[in-house]
Amino acid sequence: MDQSGVTTETPKSPWGSVAPAAPACSLADVMSEQLARQLDEENHAFPTLTEPGADPLSLDEVPDTASDLMLAQMLQMQFDREYDDQLRREEKKFNGDSKVSISFENYLKVHPYEDSDSSEDEVDWQDTRDDPYRAEKPQTTPRKGFAGKGKNITTKHDEVNCGRKNTARMDKFAPEVHVGDGLGMDLKLSNQVFNSLKQHCYTEQKRSAKLHEKKEHSTAEQAVDPRTRLLMYKMVNSGLLENINGCISTGKESVVFHANGGSLEEQPFPDEVVLKVFKTTLNEFRNRDRYIKDDYRFKERFSKLNPRKIIRLWAEKEMHNLARMKKAEIPCPEVVVLKKHILVMSFIGKDHVPAPKLKDAMLGSEDLKNAYYQVLHMMRQLYQECNLVHADLSEYNMLWHEGKVWLIDVSQSVEPTHPHGLEFLFRDCRNVSTFFQKKGVGEAMNVYDLFNTVTGLHIPVDTEDEAAFIAEIVALEKRNEDHVQKRGKKTFPVTSEDSGPPLQLDADD
Ligand code: ADP
Ligand code: MG
Repeated sequence: MDQSGVTTETPKSPWGSVAPAAPACSLADVMSEQLARQLDEENHAFPTLTEPGADPLSLDEVPDTASDLMLAQMLQMQFDREYDDQLRREEKKFNGDSKVSISFENYLKVHPYEDSDSSEDEVDWQDTRDDPYRAEKPQTTPRKGFAGKGKNITTKHDEVNCGRKNTARMDKFAPEVHVGDGLGMDLKLSNQVFNSLKQHCYTEQKRSAKLHEKKEHSTAEQAVDPRTRLLMYKMVNSGLLENINGCISTGKESVVFHANGGSLEEQPFPDEVVLKVFKTTLNEFRNRDRYIKDDYRFKERFSKLNPRKIIRLWAEKEMHNLARMKKAEIPCPEVVVLKKHILVMSFIGKDHVPAPKLKDAMLGSEDLKNAYYQVLHMMRQLYQECNLVHADLSEYNMLWHEGKVWLIDVSQSVEPTHPHGLEFLFRDCRNVSTFFQKKGVGEAMNVYDLFNTVTGLHIPVDTEDEAAFIAEIVALEKRNEDHVQKRGKKTFPVTSEDSGPPLQLDADD
């Protein structure tokens, strides 16, 4: 058997002869051929567009469907129109009768300049369609008062135009007024709404200006106004003070700071001092006018001074009163220097820690009894030797330091001849008496006995009848007032050598 013949000849199939196979063809080719045929058929289904310049969008004309792109655009346009119609319906429903309306124009698919069919083409803002809602350029009405022609006339009162102009004007509101996103939308604000917004904006601006001003000119909580701050810096710069530390107290009438003393003309100050800054807001002091304007020492000056200077007078008054107390050796802060409305005095306390107020001091019964007798003695000294009534004496204005009671806060202290001096003293006596009695000091006198002891007067005491006691005090004040009127203001000269009490119950006129 010829082996080579076997390999070269096509083997004969025992099942019969095999037809030669068709050349292989990919599925993609088959598909694209089918597609081509289909497209060709579709092509023939539409007549061809004869005029090349004809409007492809005109419905009267037979559209050119030869281009897939054109076809797609036409379908898209139809779809967009339907979408826009729906959007307009929604816009109408959303706005209802509201005075402030929101336009959905921005969301339309077919913009008026593309859609010549739209009956709403005529809207005015087409003129500014680059940015129809631009706030800076609201459409202006010509001088003649209207724009447009025939039935398309729009006057300056046109609701839509006015609304848009109002919205644009919001841009001119003060920067701190937040007008929100309204400027970017086609908001139409009615005149009424715009006017109330404008009014609100002005009121807010004024209010904030007022607040700001108040803050700048007052000695604010924990801080001081710029003028005072400058004065304080100057005190450090000039060497009067080493440095100013924290704030010890902020009261209604003053702010008290701790500071380290420097020196003045080679004379050293105490190491620890306080700065009592009298507040430059006058409201609180107005209530206290009667403490100063009826004090003959300050009467004449008071009437001539402006409010800022009156504040300085308070500081000066405290300084004078402290000086008198020092002379009588009553434990009290020592005046270091007075600069305008800042009084620098020695610090009662140690290592930055101020002495506690009597109200806060934790005292045993023995110390309390001690404190009581000290206060009693001080009150007598104040009246008899210093010719003063504290006029705000209470456990709040007495400090407990080194086993002693120290008197502070004497800016409002007056002389007993003050038209209300004895009433003030009676109030002081009540505070002292109540405090020590409450603390369980058995020796503490009642208010009437304390008053008589301090003054040396012998006003009859009927503990059931406070009104009668006060009436007696007022009568005494009146008699003294008449006396002062007759003899002039220096009837009771202020000298610490004065031995007798300044007021006598039976003083003959
Ligand atoms: P105000 O008129 O505000 O009551 P004060 O003179 O009573 O002013 O001072 C307020 C507070 O500051 C006091 O209660 C006291 O705690 C503290 N203070 C005032 N002066 C001194 C001082 N010299 N040393 C230590 N603390 C003081
Ligand atoms: Mg006080």
